[in-house]
Amino acid sequence: DPKSRVTVVGSGSWGSVAAKLIASNALKLPSFHDEVRMWVFEEVLPNGEKLTNVINKTNENAKYLPGITLGRNVVADPDLENAVKEANMLVFVTPHQFMDGICKQLKGKISGEVEAISLVKGMEVKKEGPCLISSLISKELGINCCVLMGANIANEIAMEKFSEATVGYGGSRDIAEKWVQLFSTPYFMVTPVHDVEGVELCGTLKNIVAIATGFVDGLDMGNNTKAAIMRIGLREMKALSKLLFPSVKDSTFFESCGVADVITTCLGGRNRRVAEAFARSGGKRSFDELEAEMLKGQKLQGVLTAREVYETLDHRGWLEMFPLFSTVHQICIGRLKPDDIVHYRDHKSLIS
Ligand code: NAD
Ligand code: 13P
Repeated sequence: DPKSRVTVVGSGSWGSVAAKLIASNALKLPSFHDEVRMWVFEEVLPNGEKLTNVINKTNENAKYLPGITLGRNVVADPDLENAVKEANMLVFVTPHQFMDGICKQLKGKISGEVEAISLVKGMEVKKEGPCLISSLISKELGINCCVLMGANIANEIAMEKFSEATVGYGGSRDIAEKWVQLFSTPYFMVTPVHDVEGVELCGTLKNIVAIATGFVDGLDMGNNTKAAIMRIGLREMKALSKLLFPSVKDSTFFESCGVADVITTCLGGRNRRVAEAFARSGGKRSFDELEAEMLKGQKLQGVLTAREVYETLDHRGWLEMFPLFSTVHQICIGRLKPDDIVHYRDHKSLIS
């Protein structure tokens, strides 16, 4: 078959927007089959209907992206193995905590010339150390995996407001170009960068910075403090990325996946919003409770990532080099108070 067949694994708010972008291009581009499958983690809505049925009937994800038409060619499928069966291009976009289970379920089930891309912001910490989601996919499924990250708050892209994104690739430039073609629209400008680890670590680590700026907002500390935390956070992102992967390029941090995603997530993201509520409660309400109450089924990534990064830093003896990252985790677990987010400066950071 000369035409490519795409399946989107995941259907939260960003997953649904990704399906919408891809579906509009699949209809236009002759090298792709029109139909785009979307694996949906099945759930029953309050009216008793299954989410997959609602999506297939109305072309709308009533729970995670209400009010937005995904395209008639998006087909929701609750069966993961069936959803990926015929695809040769797989787009992974679920909260990162579910990716290990998804890869285990798909292990041994993917064959032939299959390419993957991960839109997942997060990492897994295994016994041997941190594992990026793209490499989890590559290792478990035996397929090449690019990443797409950027300043991409889902609801704004759903409304077709202009934004940019970065595709990170490690192997062939041709594959990266194919992903760029599949995602690009006049309102979504995608740039390929030969630095898969750098692009993915930007998307992953900025969620910890967003939690930190949420604390700053909750404490009404103002814009200068917030900008300072964003700058220091970006510096820790760069330092840790380069320590973990010396091949990471400085220029990656100036792409959409770097500074632009830090800015948008620290201004308008879910991590920021829930961290603000946590700080306003004086740390008395837990993140789990606030997430359930405020996000209605959507998931936070930053609190788990702060823990995963803390474990990595602790294990390697690097905690003192990353006072912002370490402080965020300790505030999240109640060992420090939200206003300690600015006291971490008492420890002189060792990174330059
Ligand atoms: P979401 O937070 O909106 O929704 C949560 C999703 O998890 C739902 O689809 C739900 O069905 C699913 N889910 C719940 N329990 C599950 C389980 N046990 N197994 C598998 N799936 C389960 O999701 P999202 O916003 O699409 O986030 C996916 C990834 O995209 C994350 O890594 C996120 O950081 C990243 N991202 C999100 C945005 C955004 O603005 N929403 C933007 C860029 C990147
Ligand atoms: P939040 O998960 O904090 O909403 O961030 C979304 C995002 O990654 C924007 O690029």
